[in-house]
Amino acid sequence: MVIKSAEYLISSPDWEKCPAADKPEYAFIGRSNVGKSSLINMLMNQQKLAKTSGTPGKTQLINHFLINKSWYIVDLPGYGFAKVSQSQRRNWEQMIENYLRKRPNLVNVFVLIDSRHTPQKLDLDFVNQLGKWEIPFQLVFTKADKTTQLETSRNVKAFLNKMRETWQFLPAHHVTSTVKKMGRDNILAFIDEMNAR
Ligand code: GDP
Repeated sequence: MVIKSAEYLISSPDWEKCPAADKPEYAFIGRSNVGKSSLINMLMNQQKLAKTSGTPGKTQLINHFLINKSWYIVDLPGYGFAKVSQSQRRNWEQMIENYLRKRPNLVNVFVLIDSRHTPQKLDLDFVNQLGKWEIPFQLVFTKADKTTQLETSRNVKAFLNKMRETWQFLPAHHVTSTVKKMGRDNILAFIDEMNAR
């Protein structure tokens, strides 16, 4: 897919204030600092479309970007901030659950996972929750340039094996590095294919 245009549209406090659900959309989510902004910028071939490393936990907004005038990228606030209060966490959970379950044009959620780590409970809990809600998703392992290929593939396998304990079918996954521009084509090809349906 060729990216001809990518523009920031709006940040919404909840799903009801999001733009009209008249175009397919793809959401990106993961722990804070997982590399979500960098990944979105890489996909769009831009330096600063999505902001990198904002103040963790401060803005809990649903960010819409309009791509090629025909589909949306949605940058969702991340999870796993150490310093958020109970009530902030509950707000996040409610906002995310409502958005994920009620947004009718949501085609797929890309769940970002740091490829440097062995499986983390927080990430597993989140994908298991998506499963319970029957939300389609794919896994995106980030920062693959930060460790050796062997270490990355060990961590990817370990995560999938953990999922295998409870899941009958495993989701598709991508291994990415924004430094090496790795994983971009496969993610965009998948989006292209879904948009064509
Ligand atoms: P976000 O909080 O999930 O949006 O994460 P950011 O995109 O702001 O990235 C967090 C930090 O990880 C930044 O310092 C990025 O430069 C760095 N980072 C993100 N992706 C990669 C990657 O693929 N490779 C490397 N080496 N660093 C990355």
